[in-house]
Amino acid sequence: KTFTREEIEIGAKEQNVRYLRLMFTDIDGTIKNVEVPISQLEKVMENKMMFDGSSIDGFVRIEESDMILRPDLSTWLIFPWEEVNGKVARLICDIYNPDGTPFSGDPRNNLKRVLKEMEEEGYTEFNLGPEPEFFLFKLDENGNPTTEVNDHGGYFDFAPTDLGENCRRDIVLHLENLGFEIEASHHETAPGQHEIDWKYAGAIEACDNIQTFKLIVKTVARKHGLHATFMPKPVYGVGGSGMHFNMSLFNKEGNVFCDEENELGLSKTAQHFLAGILDHALGYTAVCNPTVNSYKRLIPGYEAPVYIAWSARNRSPLVRIPSSRGVSTRIELRSVDPSANPYLAVAVLLQSGLDGVKKESIAPKPIDRNIYRMSSEERYKRGIRDLPTTLHNAVKYLQEDKVVQEALGNHIYKSFVSAKHIEWAAYREQVSEWEKEKYLTLY
Ligand code: GLN
Ligand code: MG
Ligand code: MG
Ligand code: MG
Repeated sequence: KTFTREEIEIGAKEQNVRYLRLMFTDIDGTIKNVEVPISQLEKVMENKMMFDGSSIDGFVRIEESDMILRPDLSTWLIFPWEEVNGKVARLICDIYNPDGTPFSGDPRNNLKRVLKEMEEEGYTEFNLGPEPEFFLFKLDENGNPTTEVNDHGGYFDFAPTDLGENCRRDIVLHLENLGFEIEASHHETAPGQHEIDWKYAGAIEACDNIQTFKLIVKTVARKHGLHATFMPKPVYGVGGSGMHFNMSLFNKEGNVFCDEENELGLSKTAQHFLAGILDHALGYTAVCNPTVNSYKRLIPGYEAPVYIAWSARNRSPLVRIPSSRGVSTRIELRSVDPSANPYLAVAVLLQSGLDGVKKESIAPKPIDRNIYRMSSEERYKRGIRDLPTTLHNAVKYLQEDKVVQEALGNHIYKSFVSAKHIEWAAYREQVSEWEKEKYLTLY
């Protein structure tokens, strides 16, 4: 649903909104906001709110540092908690250049550009249902996050032992109050790990929802004295946190992935889209798994994908086709993790899939056996390739994939690659505990 300017002005008064947060997402996927008193609402509505873009990393060159924030009125939301001086509301904004053109370094604008290309191909919507996982950790006596969990209640504890479960219920309540249609909410495999799933939406709305979700999860966790993290692999030896992406493409008639006649229930378009997703897996991994830490999750043994393959039955491969058909026919990509910028991840995945459709690419045969039990020779014989194993390798593959680069646009592609080179260089010079333990006495 969307709001008119009048509805927002009246709503702000009635609900005692005192501050307005103008939110956007930078290339790293971090939510940035410019907070203004509600007295500035009129100026905001007239697209006259400027901010200094040079203060945001990798955003703009110095000479074009004055950027315009254009609010998307459909994103109006009043935060469900009372702040000291009244309520805080937010509007998600698109960033425009001073000359009134969309700023190409803004991931949300960039996704809109890619969606426009999709519409030119005759589709109306790219739907996304994300499955974010996260950990809830205890805070230490100074209020700093630890990696200690609290759901190991002692056997003789009288008090409710699982603070994490209570916290998650509270998160779900807050999300429902904000209009999220929660479909599942459960403990994940690792101690302290949780997952919350909600109803799919069109690409932009779904990405906005992911960003709002992270903000709500972190805020509610704090109120429970916990730290919520979307870091992909915070603890050695237990499962990491993924954010599976359930994707489907619609046109005026509905879901174009569905074809009841086909033996798998998948249309030609779905099969070509799937082929595109597999063909570009090496290229888009840097975007869907953008941190050094992401690659510590993509290892065998923890239900995270390691090999480029698909299946309609097995849950281990990179891509799974969930069994529901009809409007819910979809492709589930299991590599994405919650450190990814959702706007960038969706842009590269949509473009990769559409590339497969355009080229009428054919996907290799599904792998219904457990790939983790195959020898490397057998995988090689079947043409099953490995996903990149480090950020460094992933960025190299990105630099070879023109389709993925095009989906990011030149500005974002360049900033992204240079930021990742710096990140990798900084990581590379560290000497880890593992190395010291292994080599200090051996050599
Ligand atoms: N945590 C697993 C991952 O890293 C997924 C577990 C699951 O949802 N089956 O992707
Ligand atoms: Mg799930
Ligand atoms: Mg899960
Ligand atoms: Mg899943």
